[in-house]
Amino acid sequence: MTEQSLKVNLLDFDRDGLVEYCESLGEKRFRAIQLLRWIHRHCVGDFSQMTDLAKAFRAKLETNCEIRAPHPIWDKLSADGTRKWLFDVGNGNAVETVFIPEDDRGTLCVSTQAGCAMGCLFCSTGKQGFNRNLKTSEIIGQLWHAEKTLREDMGITDPLDRVISNVVLMGMGEPLQNLDNVIAALKLMLDDNAYGLSRRRVTVSTCGLTLQMDKLAEAVPVALAVSLHAPTDELRDQIMPINRKHPLADLMSACKRYLAHAPRDYITFEYILLGGVNDRLEHARALVKLVQGISCKFNLIPFNPFPDSDLRKPEASDVKAFQDYLINRGFVTTVRKTRGDDIDAACGQLAGNIKDKTRRAERLAEQKARATFLKKVQ
Ligand code: SAH
Ligand code: SF4
Repeated sequence: MTEQSLKVNLLDFDRDGLVEYCESLGEKRFRAIQLLRWIHRHCVGDFSQMTDLAKAFRAKLETNCEIRAPHPIWDKLSADGTRKWLFDVGNGNAVETVFIPEDDRGTLCVSTQAGCAMGCLFCSTGKQGFNRNLKTSEIIGQLWHAEKTLREDMGITDPLDRVISNVVLMGMGEPLQNLDNVIAALKLMLDDNAYGLSRRRVTVSTCGLTLQMDKLAEAVPVALAVSLHAPTDELRDQIMPINRKHPLADLMSACKRYLAHAPRDYITFEYILLGGVNDRLEHARALVKLVQGISCKFNLIPFNPFPDSDLRKPEASDVKAFQDYLINRGFVTTVRKTRGDDIDAACGQLAGNIKDKTRRAERLAEQKARATFLKKVQ
């Protein structure tokens, strides 16, 4: 259990918040920017190391503030270099963060909620239920801790030599259900005095909360991935309960509005292939019709099973046929490689540790009923 602290956690502030806070301590704006750089660019968590800050300012910071990222319970390294952390976020809850190194980039997959309330049928986080939104400090703290430890492990001392070049909000939780804290964390990721990532190297993945997509576009139009997973309302209603509230026509309109804010961008449609459920060519055909007029790419994700999931992986030949169909119609279509599955770090396998506050048992029964329905229609 994390101990309660009365100190102000500076990881909760984006740049404007930090400037305002420092002004309340009687410090000028440029001091706040120096502080911001120490915290997020240099990944320093100890005020005594911030050598160009006046001693009196450092003393004030020591008395009133702290730089506290969530505490890692453990981290694991996969045979393919993927690394996963389990972070304690208090009261028995823990969330997961995954680092995926590739030749030309290093991607960090960050969690935004302790659990998730969206209840998608195929998702292990959804099965865990929901406890609470993560604070800004708990979201940006995952990046802060990962960058700091990866750099230390690799012996990197230049603060501009970054290990993490891309961030995806595709860990546990639905980012757009936690919009204010997610926006503050995104602003830090893009801030030149903090992580300095370009807008296109930061991706938010959503199950399709349309109003919040509009708000994100206004605030920080980063790259957007939309979890589509079915081409018709009939099927999507069954596997993603959110579709009953925001059906596909609304979701497609929201995607078009999002792109109006970022005209040269595209939406990445994520599409899990569930064996025998949504992986037939008729689904690919319907998909092409659905996304007409939207600049987009597809990322196909072969379903990653987890205990009690009641769903199965697609056949490799069906994945290939689905991909070829979309490519032949002019869509850039990738198939997501499974990384880190020896440490349960693959998509949809992140389960953390959640003290569910919702009607989990009832929901599970409901999900079982839907799975039975899906088996019947196969
Ligand atoms: N809540 C957001 C982001 C987190 S989920 C969203 O739903 O988009 C990140 C991605 O992993 C989503 O595309 C999600 O649908 C996918 N995913 C969930 N469970 C999975 C599973 N068992 N196998 C493969 N991908 C899964
Ligand atoms: Fe939540 Fe995303 Fe999992 Fe659905 S897929 S339950 S929205 S984390």
